[in-house]
Amino acid sequence: MNRTPEDYLDLPYTIRITHDRSDDGCEGFVAEVEERVHVLVDPEIVKMEGEEADTEGCLSIPGLTGAVPRASRVVVKGKNRRGRGITVEAEGLLARVFQHEIDHLDGVLFLDRVVDRSTIREVATTAEVEPAAPAE
Ligand SMILES: [Zn+2]
Repeated sequence: MNRTPEDYLDLPYTIRITHDRSDDGCEGFVAEVEERVHVLVDPEIVKMEGEEADTEGCLSIPGLTGAVPRASRVVVKGKNRRGRGITVEAEGLLARVFQHEIDHLDGVLFLDRVVDRSTIREVATTAEVEPAAPAE
């Protein structure tokens, strides 16, 4: 499924994401996707299945979107907010958000993952509107 950047302005969900590194070296992110909040500390992808290209954007790179191939299903191991070990399975949008955010923790941005550079588009952004699915 390939959406155009404009399609994201009408999506029926909000995604709010933050990632951070704590003083003791833990890294993680909080992602609210389709009204569910996911907290993952020191996340690691342990299984990937399928592949799907879809448009992504990022608050770290405002004004640009591009088609990024990602695994359509992932299994992620990490810790929850209390430090307990957890395993989370995700598919579709949530799988994409997890991969995008784990890339951030590894210093990789979505533009590094764009295979077909001709899919990169300039889009209008404001502080209130995130142009594509996974946000920072
Ligand atoms: Zn991002």
